[in-house]
Amino acid sequence: MEIKTITICGGGNATHAMIPIIRKCFSGQLNLFLPFGDEANHFQKLVDEEGFLSAKIGDGKLYGRPDKVSKFANKVCLDADIILLPLPAFAHEHTVQQIAPFLKEEAIIGAIPSRSGFEYAALKILKDNNKEKVKIFGMQTLPWACRIKEYAASVDILGKKKSVGMAAFPHEITSELASFLTQVLDLKIEPLPNMITLTLANVGQIIHPGIMYGLFKGKEKVIYRKETIPLFYQGVTKDIAKTLKEMSDEILVLTQKIKSISKEIDLDHVLSLSDWLIYSYKGSIADESTLQSCFVTNSAYQGLRAPMQKIKNEYFSPDFNSRYLTEDVPFGLIVIKSIAQMTEVKTPVIDEIILSISQWIGKEYLKGGNLEGKDISDARIPQNYGMKNLDEIIIY
Ligand code: NAD
Repeated sequence: MEIKTITICGGGNATHAMIPIIRKCFSGQLNLFLPFGDEANHFQKLVDEEGFLSAKIGDGKLYGRPDKVSKFANKVCLDADIILLPLPAFAHEHTVQQIAPFLKEEAIIGAIPSRSGFEYAALKILKDNNKEKVKIFGMQTLPWACRIKEYAASVDILGKKKSVGMAAFPHEITSELASFLTQVLDLKIEPLPNMITLTLANVGQIIHPGIMYGLFKGKEKVIYRKETIPLFYQGVTKDIAKTLKEMSDEILVLTQKIKSISKEIDLDHVLSLSDWLIYSYKGSIADESTLQSCFVTNSAYQGLRAPMQKIKNEYFSPDFNSRYLTEDVPFGLIVIKSIAQMTEVKTPVIDEIILSISQWIGKEYLKGGNLEGKDISDARIPQNYGMKNLDEIIIY
């Protein structure tokens, strides 16, 4: 695998972190595709003023800048060997549509993180553009917690995962690609056997909507002063932990059902929520004895509060436009629900959470228990990309 050019799409927190990190170990061409509004001009002007972008990580600092920045895909994608999409899931489809006509045949595109069902949308767009040889991959999560400090100038990397899972299609490229990404992203990238693992093992779809539901169901109109805003992860009560476990169990039942239908499929990396927490946060959790204690005694989660919007002066209300809902439901739980329907697995707890959150975010995905609500075309379910059977989705 010879990678001479990497193109990053979008200019958010994750992109700001990636540029100096990739620069540390990659001496090839690094491009930036910024199609949004005037973002490209703005970024170019600011980075030229400063000369580079800096990332603070622990006590250290990394520096880097892209070689070329453009609003136009044909200026930054034609030579790209790898195109990275460190974007919110709702931006994936539009971005892949913009870049697809300009991809070379041997290019690889990857979503970081993929969330659920990235392959359905990406492969359909590539097929529509006669780019069926282009390869795809997805990562289970973003490797870093990061926040832009100053646009096009500096970013704080607040935390870094020990390792992150990655699946690719065609599967043959996974191991070589994992080695390359391990080198340029500067952390261990673990190869996963297939892309459906990313969908079933997407824990954000359990944790974010599940805790939001637990904290705010029946309390939607409560107003908080700054100091009374509930802690998000450390606010997990026994009842919330029970809901999270039930959601996780429903996904494990679905996983078992898929295994019983397709004996060869490897879904061993789909863990229960508590096993995933213990595996991912080894050393950070003081008390691993219950799911609740895995949240409330996890030092990585310390002090983080529920997403809120300011309503007046010192007063806040729950932010129902948060990505925890607008990303993790249509690009998470709804995808699970659609695969559960294909395989005739019941998901009553997940259904209840989808129904409540749909109301909060003003969407209708479920109608009469089926994925027939008026907004279902916004969700990344296989049916929206012409895939109606399990056989069609487990091949990836
Ligand atoms: P961000 O909000 O900073 O990204 C915004 C950028 O995405 C914009 O600058 C724009 O370039 C692009 N964008 C936004 N909406 C778009 C649209 N509709 N079409 C095209 N482009 C659009 O996001 P982020 O914090 O960099 O997060 C990226 C992904 O990583 C998200 O899925 C997020 O949930 C996940 N994540 C982030 C963190 C973190 O610490 N930042 C941690 C874990 C996971």
